[in-house]
Amino acid sequence: MASASSSHNSSTQNSSTQNSSAQNSSASSSQKVRVRFAPSPTGYLHVGGARTALYNFLFAKHEGGDFILRVEDTDLERSTEESMRMQIQDLEWLNIPWSEGPNPKDFTDMGPYGPYRQSRRKDIYMEYAQKLIAAGRAYYDFRTDAELDALKAAAVAAGNQQFQVETPKQIVPPEEAKKRIAAGEQAAIRFKIAEKRDYVFNDLVRGEVKFPSDMVGDFVCIRSNGMPVYNFCCVIDDALMKMTHIFRAEEHLPNTLRQIMLYEAFGFEIPKFGHLSFILGADRQKLSKRHGASSCNDYRVKGYLPEALNNFILLSGWSSPKGDEIMSREEQIAQFTPDRFNASPAIFDPVKLEWMNGQYLRALPHDDLWTRTEPFLKEAGIELPFAKDPAWRDQALSIFKIKMNTLADAVPLFLPLDDSKFAIKPEADEVLVWPEARQVLEAWKAQLQSIAKDRLTEQEFDQAQEGVKQAAGVKGKHLFMPIRVAVVGQPHGSELKMVVPLLPKSSLLERVDKAIAALKV
Ligand code: GLU
Repeated sequence: MASASSSHNSSTQNSSTQNSSAQNSSASSSQKVRVRFAPSPTGYLHVGGARTALYNFLFAKHEGGDFILRVEDTDLERSTEESMRMQIQDLEWLNIPWSEGPNPKDFTDMGPYGPYRQSRRKDIYMEYAQKLIAAGRAYYDFRTDAELDALKAAAVAAGNQQFQVETPKQIVPPEEAKKRIAAGEQAAIRFKIAEKRDYVFNDLVRGEVKFPSDMVGDFVCIRSNGMPVYNFCCVIDDALMKMTHIFRAEEHLPNTLRQIMLYEAFGFEIPKFGHLSFILGADRQKLSKRHGASSCNDYRVKGYLPEALNNFILLSGWSSPKGDEIMSREEQIAQFTPDRFNASPAIFDPVKLEWMNGQYLRALPHDDLWTRTEPFLKEAGIELPFAKDPAWRDQALSIFKIKMNTLADAVPLFLPLDDSKFAIKPEADEVLVWPEARQVLEAWKAQLQSIAKDRLTEQEFDQAQEGVKQAAGVKGKHLFMPIRVAVVGQPHGSELKMVVPLLPKSSLLERVDKAIAALKV
């Protein structure tokens, strides 16, 4: 087989071999591992994409190799600069750093193998397409879509359901083709399938995979409008960027046949492939918006921690050899080997993710937890003047984090502490009509006034409540519900022993006065 590459002729395959043993020509063990995440930026980073990025990153770190970000943005209609920015932001949020690729700050290229955005590599693709043409492995195809459709219809009518595009009897010689194109005609550059045989490779997730060559016909490398296609760009970039391993989503498995054909035609060294199983929802359908959140941004907005999401997606298709679940980054890197990939689909369990987030959240030092929680409180418009006091924050988090699985869970917990949000709600009326309510509220106020401290401890609150019980001669809900109205403005909800110790006495007094003013008896 002719090698179309002058500079990358390391492993030209022998065309007499019936099986293309990619594993024999795969990256040698002495080579530095180089892997990449190659998103097509068409929106926020999806959980599945984040997993591909994480696995490649962890594998690179485990092997002491390089992790590269390449932006596959040739589809200009779907890929936007804005999406690229969002995906880069999401990867940064997840703390999955790359050493080569667009610089996250200004998107300029970092590393020796750029440009790292495919939209900036069109000349390279054209140069390599010309190499294939020169080697007789590709040709200009002037057939229109309508002509190809007619060929297909004729084949189907003749009983051939498996129609594949074949090389035309007469290939237009390249020089003549170029003249016709210069004169305004359009032609695609199409790869020529040279031989019928099986292509076999050892997938690092799925084991041996065999594809007969007639699964595909002559395929387009450069469209007639000059746009290069994914399979073509991907091979050229992976080869020129010296990738040793390709871990990517299962949906790309069939593409690997065309890609191996291209590797062989160019004489490029074939990397090792590993196709990661799908992540499915509980209904066993591919995870999507229908299942609620599916992008990393959705989880960020819902108050998930990046380290928890990372840990969770780590275990959605891979398992620790030690059976570990909560794993630090260091443990993840130390344990990350491809033999632990699961070839069956992962089922995304949001309940487990929430549980894991709660574990991570509660383990955070309070300073850190506060820094992460505060934006959620601000976003909800919650104002807490006493939040400037580190001791108060520490106490508040100790009390509330038990009830928090996500950062957003902090909002309803902290809300009752905001004086400006305090109001006697209409549902308090059911309590404010009770004959004993006035006595309870007056006694509560007296208890507060008798305490010479700015804030009550939980025990002091219990004692004060006991004092109200004695003074008003009531117990049970007739005691608790009026006090709750006087603290949070409604008879149900917040646990007073959590809220009261966090409110200054001045607030509690203002609130009880409002409750007294609202009495209906
Ligand atoms: N741009 C492709 C995607 O986002 C990458 C496929 C690959 O990794 O080869 O699915």
